[in-house]
Amino acid sequence: MKLSDRLQYIMEQIPPHSRMADIGSDHALLPVAAVRSGRAVSAVAGEVNAGPLQAARKQVLDAGLGDRIDVRQGDGLAVLQLDEVDVITIAGMGGALIAHILDSGQEKLAGVQRLVLQPNVGEDILRKWLIRHNWILVNEHILEEDGKVYEILTAVPGTSISTTHSDLYKPFTIAGCSVRVDEDLMIRMGPLLLHKVNEVFIRKWQGEIAKLQHVTQQLELAGQEAAQEKKEQLRLLIQQLEEVLACLPRDKP
Ligand code: SAM
Repeated sequence: MKLSDRLQYIMEQIPPHSRMADIGSDHALLPVAAVRSGRAVSAVAGEVNAGPLQAARKQVLDAGLGDRIDVRQGDGLAVLQLDEVDVITIAGMGGALIAHILDSGQEKLAGVQRLVLQPNVGEDILRKWLIRHNWILVNEHILEEDGKVYEILTAVPGTSISTTHSDLYKPFTIAGCSVRVDEDLMIRMGPLLLHKVNEVFIRKWQGEIAKLQHVTQQLELAGQEAAQEKKEQLRLLIQQLEEVLACLPRDKP
């Protein structure tokens, strides 16, 4: 079974011998691969919808891992008992939905040592959730696969690490550049990604700038006063993003 690069990276964020839960598991490819590789000693595959649930059950049975992977139907973290898992992965949904799943099941997070989250959109929403609930980002990764860009965020409880949010989101100025990278920009772009910029990151943000420019043009057509204010905010944001992209040192591909 060949995992996609996206799922492979997520799997590699799971420490060896973990008890994992994969929420919104769909085909259960991730828990099957994690148990096979030894990253996970056991797994819960949670799914809310009947079709994907069946696909998950079949995958687990076909893999002969029914004794190690429990496929459960339910909403978000409701499928878990207290202190049942060390690592939770939630991948392939919007950031707002992932934040909602984490919010609704907060009591199940006590004892969890690691979250590996891969939002398809709305990464900033998740970074804000992590700050509010004192989970510290220890890794961020960006990759492109089949024309889509994915970000994978790994976080640990703030109580388990000496790094604080103030350390992580400390504003900085890029050497040789006047632009200041503040907390808002880091929440948008990723505090760790900003320190290991690659071509995928640059392409993603060039695309985001193009989208923001399009919105600005639409606001220009609207011509209302409220739109003027919004347009000015967007103009400043675009300028800030362009300056940051121009200034950042880049990793070799
Ligand atoms: N995690 C897999 C991956 O990244 O390849 C599958 C992603 S799939 C696009 C999203 C899955 O999440 C769907 O199978 C959907 O049914 C499930 N899902 C959505 N909301 C959920 C919730 N609140 N609780 C559990 N599963 C959910």
